[in-house]
Amino acid sequence: MFARFGVRVTVIEAQPRLLPAAEPEAGDLLAREGIDIRTGTPVAGVSHDGRRFTVSLYGEAVTVERLLVAAGRRTRLAELGVAALGLDPAARVITVDERMRAADGLWAIGDITGVSAHTHRAMYQAGIAVRDILGTGGPGADYRAVLAVTFTDPEIGQAGLTEAQARQRGIDVRTGITQVPWSARGWIHKAGNDGFIKLVADAGRGVLVGATCAGPMGGEVLGALVVAIHAQVPISSLSTMIYAYPTFHRAISDALRDLDKKISPACRRPAAWCAYTETGKPGADDYPHGPCGP
Ligand SMILES: Cc1cc2nc3c(=O)[nH]c(=O)nc-3n(C[C@H](O)[C@H](O)[C@H](O)COP(=O)(O)OP(=O)(O)OC[C@H]3O[C@@H](n4cnc5c(N)ncnc54)[C@H](O)[C@@H]3O)c2cc1C
Repeated sequence: MFARFGVRVTVIEAQPRLLPAAEPEAGDLLAREGIDIRTGTPVAGVSHDGRRFTVSLYGEAVTVERLLVAAGRRTRLAELGVAALGLDPAARVITVDERMRAADGLWAIGDITGVSAHTHRAMYQAGIAVRDILGTGGPGADYRAVLAVTFTDPEIGQAGLTEAQARQRGIDVRTGITQVPWSARGWIHKAGNDGFIKLVADAGRGVLVGATCAGPMGGEVLGALVVAIHAQVPISSLSTMIYAYPTFHRAISDALRDLDKKISPACRRPAAWCAYTETGKPGADDYPHGPCGP
């Protein structure tokens, strides 16, 4: 936002890319703003001469007028006195079971459980803990479709596993991707339509295990895919349902078309349908895929 107002902005990130927990395409998208982005650059120290900050970066330095520190938070379990309950005070998180039980008569929810640091997840866990305390039953925690929305512009919504996480788990991964500007709504939207929808599928089970929606209202578009991941809706159902024209969520069907080409040895749809999105832009054909035919 500051960069768009003409401020010279430098982002310093210790991890190899922006949004390290998200798909690499998301970090690349945010790097297009004319901001000086230094990734893989840990900060060695900061000094202030009364007028400006100097941020030392092992070998070089950046001098700036204003400094925003957004380096995360850490738990301090020792100060909570968890040792009295037999828990490890040196641990970073309190480990809980699927009903949020940490020890006899002790439940923990939220950031301190280390699942993901988001309000919606803390509230989800709170509901489970309350049901368990009251003995009213109900399902335990299911983190299949843990989601996060980064409220940048473009907005980035991500649910379930990234492609890399799915591969690490040994899943037979296929991905489908489309660009928002190629969709009818993206084309209508014009300026500010940057974004993409990426799907991560378990080809063996025929279901989605992850999705990223970046672009205008990316977090809202993600809603449909969160349902698909959580409820394990078959990809064959997602590919044959109706998506309203011309909405941003309709681009999901473009990403599914791209996925379809890779998930079955011979695409069940006409070749022309597979190769092009509805604005006539090519589908993401830079991915190797099987023959596409009727
Ligand atoms: C800048 C920022 C932006 C965020 N944006 C989003 C967002 O857009 N969407 C989203 O989903 N999440 C967001 N989060 C994360 C979200 O705020 C947390 O995940 C959420 O608040 C976790 O809830 P919690 O109950 O675990 O912890 P908290 O909300 O931190 O609550 C813990 C409470 O415990 C109190 N406490 C701590 N120690 C003690 C003690 N010894 N005795 C008594 N009380 C104590 C604290 O004062 C605090 O009130 C954001 C976080 C930050 C920092």
